[in-house]
Amino acid sequence: MQQDVILLPQDECAVEAVLIPGALLVALRRYQQVTTSDPESGGMILGRIRDPFLDVSNVTFPASGDRKSRHLFVRKDRTHHEAAVYLWEHSNHEVGYLGEWHTHPEDHPKPSSTDLKGWMKVIRDGHSPFCLFIIVGKKTSYYCVGYSCEDKVITFFEFGMDDASAQVLR
Ligand SMILES: [Zn+2]
Repeated sequence: MQQDVILLPQDECAVEAVLIPGALLVALRRYQQVTTSDPESGGMILGRIRDPFLDVSNVTFPASGDRKSRHLFVRKDRTHHEAAVYLWEHSNHEVGYLGEWHTHPEDHPKPSSTDLKGWMKVIRDGHSPFCLFIIVGKKTSYYCVGYSCEDKVITFFEFGMDDASAQVLR
């Protein structure tokens, strides 16, 4: 579980790969909405940009101050922001905000129109030039990187895991 999982873009993208510790993806799976009463969960994704790679090092987890229901997660608890500030200050300003993850009660999740709207806002807010979004489903997860291209058009690129990386999670 100490190995990194490598996510690769399905189309040509300025980000050539995303590296995530396998243990982090396993930790996210604990929040899968397996039963009909499990609420949505979510949190921040934190890491470094090593152009042309995104190197994920941390995620934050749901806390009591977040708003959660079957089809909604709103990150409200202050521990998310506090973790981001702590890591930024203790990493020589290298580990910063990279994006957001949340769960869906679907086997193979796809972003909703609400997700895409929210993600566009995240990109426009400009905390990271490249933003990573993960939706954890019941069987597979959805990964994408979004950014504002030169013509200011926000574009999302789907990423996928190769077989060797999938083995890390078994
Ligand atoms: Zn969603």
